[in-house]
Amino acid sequence: MELWVTEYQTPVLGFSCKTTETLRVEQTPFQHLCVVNTEQFGRMLLLDGMVQTTEKDEFVYHEMITMIALNAHPRPKNVLVIGGGDGGALREVVRHPAVECGTLAEIDERVIQASRDFFPDHSCSFSATKAQLIVADGIQFIKEHADTFDVVIVDSTEPVGPAQELFSPAFYASVAKALKDDGMLVVQSESPFFNGDVIKMAYGGIKQSFPITKLYLAAVPTYPSGLWSFTVGSKRYDPEVPFCTGKLEYKYYTSEIHQAAFKLPAFVRNLIGDK
Ligand code: SAM
Repeated sequence: MELWVTEYQTPVLGFSCKTTETLRVEQTPFQHLCVVNTEQFGRMLLLDGMVQTTEKDEFVYHEMITMIALNAHPRPKNVLVIGGGDGGALREVVRHPAVECGTLAEIDERVIQASRDFFPDHSCSFSATKAQLIVADGIQFIKEHADTFDVVIVDSTEPVGPAQELFSPAFYASVAKALKDDGMLVVQSESPFFNGDVIKMAYGGIKQSFPITKLYLAAVPTYPSGLWSFTVGSKRYDPEVPFCTGKLEYKYYTSEIHQAAFKLPAFVRNLIGDK
């Protein structure tokens, strides 16, 4: 018998993968968590039925949510990741040579545990000497810090449940306060094909608190529509211009991709009111 896992990306569109094994299914205090092994993408983590990460394509998302800001900021010493309990974004943060401390604030301890148990290439970051793990609501955590971080990365779930407020103007204003006076914020802002409303909400909200706001794109095969957006708010530096792309090895990110990712199709420019 064949077993398939399906994410209903819209009410009329499903994305299905053939699975070989179900590794974990549980209801955590915050969400439904499932880890399966798929033939196409290796191990896959789903929260509330939505794909969060897979072994085979995670590099695109994790390099692109981190390296644009880390390489555009001249001194990204102190970096905070909100969400991102799988550890993939934190892994990229702590391997960056300029970073001295990478803090992860994840609300759901069971996501961290699932990553420790099933995603060694993500969770290797948890034991890095530069890493600090905090199980906390990012919304509360950010309010308790002022003028602290060089870069804040919001690697959240979709804007439902505990992540809803992570897309609000009030949250972006708290992040602006928690950043130093040349700090940068990056958030995952969903698919331009299916979630134009989320992009407008994130871009519009960030623009209220940051003088420079820009959107960039990357191709992530397992995310709805395959085309994913990220929104950056910056207090001083232009995120589109790499300060230094360094000597790290990448699988997706390059200095050319850094700048090309900001070149937007007309319909995406329209979404953010940039005609
Ligand atoms: N890359 C993924 C995506 O785009 O779908 C997101 C991955 S990561 C697993 C998302 C994490 O955000 C989840 O583990 C979830 O528990 C966490 N999260 C949601 N709301 C949060 C909050 N308010 N504070 C901290 N973490 C939160």
